[in-house]
Amino acid sequence: MKNKNFVIEKKPQDGICNICLNQFDVLSEDHVPPESTGNHGKLEYRYYFNTAGKTQFHEFTDGIRYKTVCHECNGSLSNFDRCIATFYKQSWQVDLNNCDEHSFSIKPNGIIRGVLGHFLSSKSTHNRSVFDDFCIDAWNDITKPLPQTFNFYVKYYPHNDIRVVRDLVLIGRTPAFTSVMKIKPWAFIVTDQEIYDEHVTRWNDYFAYPWHQKKNVSISVSHACPQDEPEGNVEIMKILGLLATESVIGKKLET
Ligand SMILES: [Zn+2]
Repeated sequence: MKNKNFVIEKKPQDGICNICLNQFDVLSEDHVPPESTGNHGKLEYRYYFNTAGKTQFHEFTDGIRYKTVCHECNGSLSNFDRCIATFYKQSWQVDLNNCDEHSFSIKPNGIIRGVLGHFLSSKSTHNRSVFDDFCIDAWNDITKPLPQTFNFYVKYYPHNDIRVVRDLVLIGRTPAFTSVMKIKPWAFIVTDQEIYDEHVTRWNDYFAYPWHQKKNVSISVSHACPQDEPEGNVEIMKILGLLATESVIGKKLET
């Protein structure tokens, strides 16, 4: 089934903002990932896990959008979206394949808070998982360092799928609660266990930075993230956490 101007809404449509939990007559629309990263134009998406009733493709006319947060919270998100936009703009200006590491003049803490905020809006309910509790900590007081309960990895992601996968428990040596947001050329992987070695860039050192502080940040691009990693690793068992079935994959359509 294809809908024109499809947008993912609250179920039930209770008007409660996913971020501040206040009730409103109308909620506002938010692109997840942010529009400035390339999440715009015609694309189709499907739910990542083929659970009953969630297998069909929908068509978005202007990126993957959610109508789940209030106008004010959406406005606060846009401050951090500017940090993310700068990061993407700089990334598009360099050939990421030409060396193993690249440096960007960006606001890493603002990018982290922006990504976590978008995880909060990218679901049809304001019910919160353990991961959402971590995300909301980044929002309740934006001057406070983020708690070191999760790891925030940034990996080179040269693939076309846009993925927002959340609340997965990957049963490796230690079970790891994992959520990912991927849009070319970056994958943001948030997990409560250290699932990668030092070759993968981890941004936890920036958890205590002021969100508006600019920094020269080096990112290793020597190991590109496979399209399906870590969420699709068939070697390890997965448990779907509270809102895992809301995970989505978007694909750009030819115009
Ligand atoms: Zn709100």
